Amino acid sequence: MSMNYNDFFQGCVDKVKSEGRYRIFANLERKAGEFPKAIYRSPDGKVKEITIWCNNDYLGMGQHPKVIAAAKDAIDKCGTGAGGTRNISGTTKYVVELEESVADLHNKEAGLVLSSGYVANEGALGTIGKLLPECAIFSDAMNHASMIHGIRDSKQQKFIYRHNDLNHLEDLLKSVDVKRAKIIAFESVYSMDGDIAPIKEICDLAERYNAMTYLDEVHAVGLYGPRGGGVAEERGLMDRIDIIEGTFGKGYGAMGGFITGSAPIIDAVRCYASSFIFTTALPPAVSAAALAAVEHLKISNVERQKQRINVKLLKEILEGAELPYLRGESHIVPLIVGEPTCCKDVTDILMNDYNIYVQPINYPTVPRGTERLRLTATAAHSIEDVRYMANTLKELWQNHHVLKKAA
Ligand SMILES: *Cc1c(COP(=O)(O)O)cnc(C)c1O
Repeated sequence: MSMNYNDFFQGCVDKVKSEGRYRIFANLERKAGEFPKAIYRSPDGKVKEITIWCNNDYLGMGQHPKVIAAAKDAIDKCGTGAGGTRNISGTTKYVVELEESVADLHNKEAGLVLSSGYVANEGALGTIGKLLPECAIFSDAMNHASMIHGIRDSKQQKFIYRHNDLNHLEDLLKSVDVKRAKIIAFESVYSMDGDIAPIKEICDLAERYNAMTYLDEVHAVGLYGPRGGGVAEERGLMDRIDIIEGTFGKGYGAMGGFITGSAPIIDAVRCYASSFIFTTALPPAVSAAALAAVEHLKISNVERQKQRINVKLLKEILEGAELPYLRGESHIVPLIVGEPTCCKDVTDILMNDYNIYVQPINYPTVPRGTERLRLTATAAHSIEDVRYMANTLKELWQNHHVLKKAA
């Protein structure tokens, strides 16, 4: 009998459903100027105002007047689309300035803008890995899917070291011929646990074993360092990292990704990376918005300070209530539920009864048994928003038997 393709794919979806990890996306309409408030449309057609607690627009730059004005101005002057790949016709003045801006941000010779942070990681690691003959790539076990896919794409030998485990990393580095080319690929802020890598110690190892360093600062650019250059800037380590990668989609409130580094490395990625060469450039409005956000956060500390105050207050109330959150150094506050259906239930209660939107984080994003709420207090939340959220969680954890059971 011939195969029924629809039945086959429905079976694939049913498998996800049976494991309790089928995702329904919340239909939201952000209100510019009032974020983190948004309009929510529920599957049964109800409409209401909610507060978002799981967004990566950490500093509210997606609604900053300067950023909005820059995007509008670019549309008025240049229209909507870039109209081509960078190689053919898509290089606009905004992209050129954006590349200069990120190179300056990280104090590097050159920068390259790609479609997203995902594409930047995949393209850069894939290309750099492929170009280096017999290269060995050392990858943190918790690295983002985009880095994993880039490393796979390089078709080089890969060594996975236990998350942030320097001894394990050194053992693996030692196991490889000293003369071989090496890359250590890692993140600064790990977005699901909210912990931060020992960047200095990893750089020390890289120096000792003559490895290149590749650092994903996606959850840190804009937020850390005096000019928003990330954790490596804050710790005075940018010059020890060969390639710093980031996004305009999170702390900068726009979209797109980038890498920065020495001129030859960046030029090589520009010449060889398929995912850079064969895709349409970022449109003027998006690159102008990103540029305005990056430049603003080089000189303004207001947003960073506001966000830090909110994060601190959230952690303090959760701490006082003895709720099981992961005590990382970063701004990300993961609150562990530890079971997928309960995790979904608690987010449903928050949405239905308290007008709070948090997406449950389940496997495969995090390991089974560590299902969680990943809370992001942004610079745009008010002190009252933070108090309301933290006290609501406290109440839920005290009064709901489901949560007591899970804890
Ligand atoms: C989100 C994310 C990316 C991808 O960035 P996008 O711009 O959203 O494609 C890369 N690395 C990490 C660690 C991320 O969390």
